[in-house]
Amino acid sequence: MEVKTSLLDNMIGVGDMVLLEPLNEDSFIENLRKRFDHNEIYTYIGSVVISMNPYRSLPIFTPEKVEEYLPGLDEAYRSLRDQDKDQCILITGESGAGKTEASKLVMSYVAAVCGKGQEVNKVKEQLLQSNPVLEAFGNAKTVRNDNSSRFGKYMDIEFDFKGDPLGGVISNYLLEKSRVCKQPRGERNFHIFYQLLSGASGDTLMSDRLFLSVLSQNAMQIVGFMEDEVQLVLELVAAVLKLGNIEFKPESRVNGFDESRVKDKNDLKEMCELLGIEQSVLERAFSYRTVEAKMEKVSTTLNVAQAYYARDALAKNLYSRLFSWLVTRINESIKAQAKTRHKVMGVLDIYGFEIFEDNSFEQFIINYCNEKLQQIFIELTLREEQEEYVREGIEWTNIEYFNNAIICDLIENNQNGILAMLDEECLRPGTVTDDTFLDKLNTICAEHQHFESRLSKNSKFLTDHSLPHSCFRIQHYAGKVLYRVEGFVDKNNDLLYRDLSQAMYKATHSLMRQLFPEGNPAKVNLKRPLTAGTVLCIKPNDKKAAHIFTDSLVCHQVRYLGLMENVRVRRAGYAFRQPYEPCLERYKMLCKQTWPHWRGPARDGVEVLLTDCSVPAEEFAYGRSKIFIRNPRTLFTLEERRRAC
Ligand code: ADP
Ligand code: MG
Repeated sequence: MEVKTSLLDNMIGVGDMVLLEPLNEDSFIENLRKRFDHNEIYTYIGSVVISMNPYRSLPIFTPEKVEEYLPGLDEAYRSLRDQDKDQCILITGESGAGKTEASKLVMSYVAAVCGKGQEVNKVKEQLLQSNPVLEAFGNAKTVRNDNSSRFGKYMDIEFDFKGDPLGGVISNYLLEKSRVCKQPRGERNFHIFYQLLSGASGDTLMSDRLFLSVLSQNAMQIVGFMEDEVQLVLELVAAVLKLGNIEFKPESRVNGFDESRVKDKNDLKEMCELLGIEQSVLERAFSYRTVEAKMEKVSTTLNVAQAYYARDALAKNLYSRLFSWLVTRINESIKAQAKTRHKVMGVLDIYGFEIFEDNSFEQFIINYCNEKLQQIFIELTLREEQEEYVREGIEWTNIEYFNNAIICDLIENNQNGILAMLDEECLRPGTVTDDTFLDKLNTICAEHQHFESRLSKNSKFLTDHSLPHSCFRIQHYAGKVLYRVEGFVDKNNDLLYRDLSQAMYKATHSLMRQLFPEGNPAKVNLKRPLTAGTVLCIKPNDKKAAHIFTDSLVCHQVRYLGLMENVRVRRAGYAFRQPYEPCLERYKMLCKQTWPHWRGPARDGVEVLLTDCSVPAEEFAYGRSKIFIRNPRTLFTLEERRRAC
């Protein structure tokens, strides 16, 4: 284990919270503040990194500096290279806290430390440039963050046995596609729409060539997109824009029903030309809907509201499928070539927890993802840590912590979880509305809650009569969130009338056709490697501003992230541990009896060695297979002696 002494020397405040004296919430936050004021944005809790968003660029992001400031990252890379362990870096924190920037830093770091050479450099460059491409299509300006990720991303970087990168694989999760049609007040659509419009003046959207801001275009080329592919992609983005212009008007019919008609045929024409679709085909698809019932096809007319619904469903589907196609296409470019991969480092960056005044289905899904991630974090740092002591037979008093499994269960339980109920409601024949869904939720969750509350007082589904109409409230780990059910059923159904997908499939546009071969997208399973590093990102203020440290805001995050419990577990426990064999191997030269060979069990060798080095007995505990070291300084001392040998 390589330990950087610089972490503890010459530092402002305390670099590792494990060493903080006295330890309480005030001193914890004071330490964060002191370091933040001096541009020390990283603080450790053992192997967990806390990162405070500086909201301005600091000179520490040069590759050489990263190593100095983020020794934990260095450690992760070294154990991957030297100890043959897959690594996974989980990044968590609320929206705007700096997760995406941290994930990019991990990638730049990897690029900086590992091999040079033409081939390796090309791989690195492609991995790095996949970011601007995905950000252009998957990020948008929100109230919380000017460059907010609206999708979840997990990237595996694959290495060969020398520790050089071979390539990577990206998995994407749940793009917030509703944004294509509607953005909350003060927010914008995905960046790419603006990049396209700024690169082209109005009419040129119809010209032979569509222009994209130089940045994304270059990135696309580096990642390996051919020029004509870039063009095809941009045409589809333009098609989504055109689609948004298409409007409908009612046409009264004899039988009293209103039937929808396209208002201005010009918009329709432009879109059809762009995609090579016959105008009449698309026009019909916006006016009728075919339903298959008992082997019979029945055509029903669409009214104006239904036509808008159909239009928006098409825009959302088109865009999200294009996004998935981009990820697949990037993966083709960056995937490791024939050489066998040795180890992987995974980096998980998702959209952060969101609480707005008005929270809808999107926030519900995003917050659920964060709830799951918090669960993994708890398992890794609190549960597994404590279980290891028990497993290794080390004396241990359990430290209480809040486990959010109960919230995950409320949402995902197969029988009566909120998602299961929503699915069930969507499948139920008859008139299904958001309100029938809410009724069901209230009945079942309230029952469940009643049942639960007899067992424990832990229910997280909060019902009371003060709730506004059509809302439900959940006590998430990061706070209470009020969700409005309007749109839940539709968004979950995500219905794209078959007439429309068939119309799209008839397009001559080659990429368009590929995007609508109904029901294809192959899912990549998220498999988490065993060892994990964690980065917790904290937002110092709500103004997206530098230099401001808002106590109450930081305190709230410190609480819900469970950081105090984390330090307590770390402190009551042992900062470092290592199986006996490698420990003896590393330090055996410090003791005459163990050098050059120790004959006997490694555990005994380690004991002889440590006694000989006159390290106080209370600094160690002997587990079944590992030696546990309480204070990192002890380890530093051993390291220094070793270097002096
Ligand atoms: P998240 O992914 O957690 O929502 P981002 O990583 O997108 O947040 O960060 C939001 C903004 O904060 C960035 O666009 C940038 O302006 C600023 N920021 C975040 N981390 C850093 C950093 N390490 N250095 C400088 N600015 C940062
Ligand atoms: Mg982000």
